[in-house]
Amino acid sequence: SKEHGRDQLYFFEQQMQQQLRQRQKLEHELKLALTEQQFSLYYQPKVNSVRQLAGYEALIRWHHPEQGMVPPDLFIPLAESSGLIIDIGTWVLKTACLQIKYFVDQGARLAIAVNVSQRQLVQKDFVDTVQQIIKDTGIQANLLELEITESMLHDDLEATRQKLLALSDIGVTFSLDDFGTGYSSLSYLKNLPIHVLKIDQSFVKEFLIEKTDRAIVLTIIAMAETLGLMVVAEGVEQQQQFEELAEMGCALFQGYLFGKPAPLPELMSKKINLVDA
Ligand code: C2E
Ligand code: CA
Ligand code: CA
Ligand code: CA
Repeated sequence: SKEHGRDQLYFFEQQMQQQLRQRQKLEHELKLALTEQQFSLYYQPKVNSVRQLAGYEALIRWHHPEQGMVPPDLFIPLAESSGLIIDIGTWVLKTACLQIKYFVDQGARLAIAVNVSQRQLVQKDFVDTVQQIIKDTGIQANLLELEITESMLHDDLEATRQKLLALSDIGVTFSLDDFGTGYSSLSYLKNLPIHVLKIDQSFVKEFLIEKTDRAIVLTIIAMAETLGLMVVAEGVEQQQQFEELAEMGCALFQGYLFGKPAPLPELMSKKINLVDA
């Protein structure tokens, strides 16, 4: 009936408004999070084929005062749509570079990979920001790795190329994250200074049983070898996955099998043996 329809519409509007309010609340809290120092970086190790530590990926964590730990998949999209990702991303870069400096002071030359958002990359001053942070922290640029995804390369490819080249010239390296999940165009690999391909965890998860996934993994590794790129397998959880990937020629590995993302004090106290110390 008409009446029923109106009730439903009313209910729907109520729900929409509630969602909007929740979103606004979270956005407001996200803004506070930076000044209230509620963010921290966790670090997940990357290892080589003999399980030696080869570097870390920095992953942001938000310690919400009431909700506890909010996973990045929940707040990064909001940070992106609201523009807060610019300041958050700068904080991540600074914090990771300070950590690199700390490692070097401890006698360990360890690279740290930092995830970069599309919104950050398209900023006119992105190159300047990164350069300034490298300068301020006094680190060697080649210890900083930036992880980008193929989806970021769709618009304004030429401007992006110039930025990557400028940073690559001073020694910063670039990884293509979640490789194989987006619309891969091999011309990216030819025209951009990409140094590392990260095989997406969705392929790693099933390749032991799924023929297609195995074929994709093999293809990525073969292609990387031909192009002189490093390959990292993400989401390695089982010993058998590790062994077979190593046999297939994968150089670096990341996943719960070697360590979950963790705050560094824990990692340091474990005294993982350092490759390049
Ligand atoms: P990502 O860059 O693909 O990061 C890998 C994600 O896989 C991380 O989730 C990591 O904890 C998880 N992971 C690692 N090893 C395993 C494994 O063996 N099994 C399983 N099931 N998962 C594993 P996390 O930390 O929740 O981050 C999710 C996403 O949030 C990241 O995906 C990245 O896209 C984004 N993100 C995280 N930190 C930052 C940041 O500082 N800046 C930006 N822009 N994005 C970030
Ligand atoms: Ca990543
Ligand atoms: Ca990834
Ligand atoms: Ca991802």
